[in-house]
Amino acid sequence: MPVFSHPSCLDHDTGPGHAERPERLAAVIEALRAAFPDLDLRQSPPATRGQLLRVHGPALLATVLDSHPTGRIPLDSDTVLSPGSAQAALHAAGAGVAAVDTVFDGSATRVFCAVRPPGHHATGDIAMGFCLFNNIAVAAAHALDRYGLARVSVVDFDVHHGNGTQAIFEAEPRVQYVSSHQLPLFPDTGTRRERGVGNIVNVPLAPGTGSQRFCEAWRERLLPEIEAFAPQLILVSAGFDAHWRDPLAQLQLEAEDIGWLSGELVALADRFCEGRLVSMLEGGYDLQALRECSVAHLRALST
Ligand SMILES: [Zn+2]
Repeated sequence: MPVFSHPSCLDHDTGPGHAERPERLAAVIEALRAAFPDLDLRQSPPATRGQLLRVHGPALLATVLDSHPTGRIPLDSDTVLSPGSAQAALHAAGAGVAAVDTVFDGSATRVFCAVRPPGHHATGDIAMGFCLFNNIAVAAAHALDRYGLARVSVVDFDVHHGNGTQAIFEAEPRVQYVSSHQLPLFPDTGTRRERGVGNIVNVPLAPGTGSQRFCEAWRERLLPEIEAFAPQLILVSAGFDAHWRDPLAQLQLEAEDIGWLSGELVALADRFCEGRLVSMLEGGYDLQALRECSVAHLRALST
């Protein structure tokens, strides 16, 4: 199974003490190499401006790509632009585009993108919550435009709500957004009442939810919605910050829960999408949890 990444993703420098640090990605790659000796690791191309402009406004592109900072510039209280950020953001978004192309050229059915910065909080116009460009949204828009799809499901099990992905697609019936997330927690969106044009499905979970109720929520509420939508492609916002070790949230999951859910998504992709599934790394801020969850996720995707 191909894994797209790029060395420039390590050059997005958020500064000392920041949770979203280069060591996260290094830990994921190292764990995957150790668990899968034949890992098919590929370098992602940069996204083009045209691919980014499908979901982002020109002002955000100018901020991220054309400001050429010589040091770190805060975009908000937790989102930083550094000298290496533009290349990292381009290659993170480009990974999703290349992954979509890979599952449609028939050379692979499932692809993982090990990239940073993460994407699901970035809206069309605002970089926020550690995210510069919305990588999964760029991938979804590419699938719609390039392959003329009518139904794409974006499945988000990061512990935070993907407010950016929801905002970008809330009026786009060709894209379904399905998310479980802790609430209350940043960015404090994602209530059940947020339904878009019927294409948004949010299941907020209380702190301390744990494995059993998490799996129940997916089995009873979220997976049936994906089934009813019958997507032609499944995109996954794979955040590993719902793990019990994560310092930013309290959902208390185990790596096995991520493995189980990943297997369920693979089964849906096999049933509806001729197997096509593209997953992109989002959050996850404990290095050991990142290692365990990324291996559990890839094991399910590669079987
Ligand atoms: Zn997160």
